[in-house]
Amino acid sequence: MIQSVNSVPAFDIKQQYETIEAEVSAAVLEVLASGRYIGGPLVESFEQQFAAYHGVTHCIACNSGTDALFLALRALEIGVGDEVITTPFTFVATAEVISAVGAKPIFVDIENTTFNIDLQQVAAAITPKTKAIIPVHLFGQPVDMTALMAIAQSHNLAVIEDCAQSTGATWGDAKVGSIGHIGCFSFYPTKNLGGCGDGGAITTNDAAIAAKLRVLKEHGQKNRYYYEEVGVNSRLDALQAAILQIKLRHLDTWNNQRRAIATYYQQFLSQVPGIIAPQEVAGGLSVWNQYTIRISSQGRNGSSNTYRDTVRSQLQERGVSTMVYYPHPLHLQPVYQHLGYQPGQLPVVEQACHEVLSLPMFPELAQPQQDQVIYALKDCLA
Ligand SMILES: *Cc1c(COP(=O)(O)O)cnc(C)c1O
Repeated sequence: MIQSVNSVPAFDIKQQYETIEAEVSAAVLEVLASGRYIGGPLVESFEQQFAAYHGVTHCIACNSGTDALFLALRALEIGVGDEVITTPFTFVATAEVISAVGAKPIFVDIENTTFNIDLQQVAAAITPKTKAIIPVHLFGQPVDMTALMAIAQSHNLAVIEDCAQSTGATWGDAKVGSIGHIGCFSFYPTKNLGGCGDGGAITTNDAAIAAKLRVLKEHGQKNRYYYEEVGVNSRLDALQAAILQIKLRHLDTWNNQRRAIATYYQQFLSQVPGIIAPQEVAGGLSVWNQYTIRISSQGRNGSSNTYRDTVRSQLQERGVSTMVYYPHPLHLQPVYQHLGYQPGQLPVVEQACHEVLSLPMFPELAQPQQDQVIYALKDCLA
């Protein structure tokens, strides 16, 4: 297919690299020349900087956001016979780790306005087997952590924040990942703070949990070559730590650029019939990992997801690439069939999956490109 000259990609991580190329190249060459590729001072200083950025006492770097979540559950000793409440509208890793430790994911519906977990339904789903809640700050938008912590505290439950899409987002005066018992971050390249490969980190103010995480991420090794439990190998490479240190200094600027783009989109899209533009919730600041609109399927012919998909391909014809996060809710995925959820059981998320469309969103997205997205969308829906 011939690419339109004026094509707008859904995301472009190469462009960001080009803005810091000299600094990153020098840092990478320095690591290569140092011969210190695993652990060492760069990983330690990155952990300190990431902890300071979040106002927490501990940061443990690891191999991925998935590992961060897995290690968090292991550190809390959650396993067979336990239930963990989470959202069905997230990347699969959030639920996968619950299953991986032998516990049972309990999916509850989401809010229509934020796509985040519905806290009333969280409260209603708590049983004597519930051990933890994993809220996901989806698309960069923080969950109401004040209300969530109140629910958790009244039932003595742990809260593991999935911050994979929300590095730098705030709830009240606090960064997400510093409010729950444990915060889990991903440095996958398209996240707000993305490395040049896999990477992740865990934040906590609990010294005992931090110590446990350090043992678990290193094969369960307590003292050298002495093992008390089964662990894993989960490291952040020194190369990634060097790159992430540089990028962390730019994170607030990049997040503010995302916020400006969201404001611009909002200004033009909030009045377009047929579109529901995302709203920022009072009390929180989103970092817009995704700008996800809904294409209303009401009153259209045919099955409800046809219309969103039609608009998506019409946008593509106009050079605008978009993404669908997420086309299927987790509670209806084949992997979770054994849990017995039925279609229609979580109606808000099921409808969202038919209607969501994530527009191009990355800090370097230029104003003419933003205009092209807006015009194309208005044109398709006219
Ligand atoms: C990306 C992501 C993860 C997993 O992070 P990886 O670094 O890719 O393992 C977990 N949860 C959510 C919500 C994510 O978006």
